[in-house]
Amino acid sequence: MNKQQVNFCNLHILGGGQLGQMLALAGIPLGIKCFFLDPNPNAPAALSGQVTQGAFQKATLQTFAQLAQHLTFEFENIPCEELAQLPTNIPLNPSIKALKVAQDRLAEKQLFNRLGIPTNKFFAVNSLEQLSKLLENDLPIPAILKTRRLGYDGKGQARISNSSNLANLHDLVKQEALLEELVDFDYELSCIGVFGKTQQAFYPVIKNLHQDGILVKSEPLYQHPLQGLAESYLQLIANELEYIGVLTVEFFVTGQCLIANEIAPRVHNSGHWTIEGSQCSQFENHLRAILGLPLGSTATSSAYCSMWNILHTHPDKNKLLALPKTHLHLYHKSERPGRKLGHITVCSDTREEHEYINQQIAQFLATSQYQL
Ligand code: AMP
Repeated sequence: MNKQQVNFCNLHILGGGQLGQMLALAGIPLGIKCFFLDPNPNAPAALSGQVTQGAFQKATLQTFAQLAQHLTFEFENIPCEELAQLPTNIPLNPSIKALKVAQDRLAEKQLFNRLGIPTNKFFAVNSLEQLSKLLENDLPIPAILKTRRLGYDGKGQARISNSSNLANLHDLVKQEALLEELVDFDYELSCIGVFGKTQQAFYPVIKNLHQDGILVKSEPLYQHPLQGLAESYLQLIANELEYIGVLTVEFFVTGQCLIANEIAPRVHNSGHWTIEGSQCSQFENHLRAILGLPLGSTATSSAYCSMWNILHTHPDKNKLLALPKTHLHLYHKSERPGRKLGHITVCSDTREEHEYINQQIAQFLATSQYQL
């Protein structure tokens, strides 16, 4: 291999959303050029790399993959059967096995249980009759019903608080669905790990606040007592799925227990703070892992860190940028209710300063965003 090949390489990414945009930005200084496949030629990643417009279908995937040295994905809903038919000489990471599990909530929960990782109670549901029987005999109301596939940001799920309006859930159960126990959690955590061929590293666990199923705010918790347990669960999953790349697992916390909710076989929204808050971000570490480079340090670079999602409408940029220790990331998307438009990261060294800046951001966001 000549020097040029060692120092520079291309990475082909399936999906061209903001995760792709941030992967490509992390790759530029490392000599990694990203190319994307996305149905939308103006997807956010188009700002940081070339987007091939195309659906995630056999012919398009084959043509795109033929140009690739390495393949990864930043979008989860890509048909695994089509991926399995791509030329095997082009490394595709994370594994198709991991993507397949992440695409189906039932498969995810079954994997957790098989590995001895606690979950809430769950049942596969295919009809209203079955739903009504389960609620009568096996899982008391309140409960939550979710589509097994394609749900995201609170879409494709409904809370069930009484049995009189079950008919409204017809649309959800006519797809394959999962009925789950509603967890009365203390708070939610995610754990992000990065797995290379011979190395692995974990970021501090992250406390996440969701509203209506959408992530609003994330904060890493340093030296948290559940860090070791969370890491051990990720390790089990990574071993089972022969995992290379960044892996995220979301948990509910009740007391000292972690109840696994779902996995994301990719960089994750709750890890966006790592761009400024860690020595090496989740994006750079994902690239390093899948390209066989040494992993970067996951150590944090400030005493306090928070990340806020910008949802629905854009806040006043002048006000935000006037705040100290504040970093703005916009995804160049048009405003729409429920849409993630960007995020804000605050990294500060004292609690007082951190609380003050966060209060200001909370106010700016509250005045600019639709009520959730
Ligand atoms: P999910 O799509 O499963 O990540 O759900 C999105 C969000 O909805 C979670 O982060 C929780 O805030 C909430 N949620 C989902 N499932 C449950 C559950 N079984 N019990 C309580 N809250 C839940």
